[in-house]
Amino acid sequence: MRFFADYHTHSKYSDGRATISEMAKAARKQGLEEIAITDHGPRNIGTGVKNTEQYLKIRTEARKVSEELGDFKVLCGAEANIVDLEGGIDVPKKIYQELDLLLVGLHPYILPNDLETAWEYVLKNRLHKHLGGIRRKVVNTNTKTLVEAMYKHDVDIISHPGLEMPLNLEEVARACAATDTAYEINVGHNYQNPADIVQVARHGVKFVVDSDAHFTETVGKLDKGLALLTQAKVPPEQVLNAKP
Ligand SMILES: [Zn+2]
Ligand SMILES: [Zn+2]
Repeated sequence: MRFFADYHTHSKYSDGRATISEMAKAARKQGLEEIAITDHGPRNIGTGVKNTEQYLKIRTEARKVSEELGDFKVLCGAEANIVDLEGGIDVPKKIYQELDLLLVGLHPYILPNDLETAWEYVLKNRLHKHLGGIRRKVVNTNTKTLVEAMYKHDVDIISHPGLEMPLNLEEVARACAATDTAYEINVGHNYQNPADIVQVARHGVKFVVDSDAHFTETVGKLDKGLALLTQAKVPPEQVLNAKP
């Protein structure tokens, strides 16, 4: 199995350190054929895009870099945040439908839509590590909002599921299969284990292996994902960015 794309990377438009062109060239050096620039939604405190109009600028720049490189494609997407308990996200449909792909991820440091979300989602996700008793409630809240987001929006990939913010993987996997949403193996954060991947794969879910690179040094380096897929015996047909 070999990877031909990296669908989760960041640029200077959010908290990445490199330009779109620098990220693309670095990925091409790694032997990839395409990448997606997927900068953080505006509600990520201190790290998001200035506003969602920025995505249209990123898209224009991505197309230009694609044309310059010729043999390498640069897609433009967004890594949106969940901002309320009903699965609302911080990138509106009129913007994300103009992009090549939509990622949705749970992040602990966001500006939520309302006080209830601030309490149930933002605060409790920070507290559960210290207060074990609320963990189950946190898992329920996180799972419910993510599943609702998948049904409500045209989500292509859920980014780093279960990182820092715990989920019921069984329910998430079922929703991924039902809504045709890919489940990400996130090499950048490198926190996943083969048992979880086996559990998710059983539902016929499609996977994608991404770097979540914020620097040119890490873009397209997906070998750890290959090791995980091999251990979990996931065939290349079940991986969106892999070829046999
Ligand atoms: Zn993320
Ligand atoms: Zn990211």
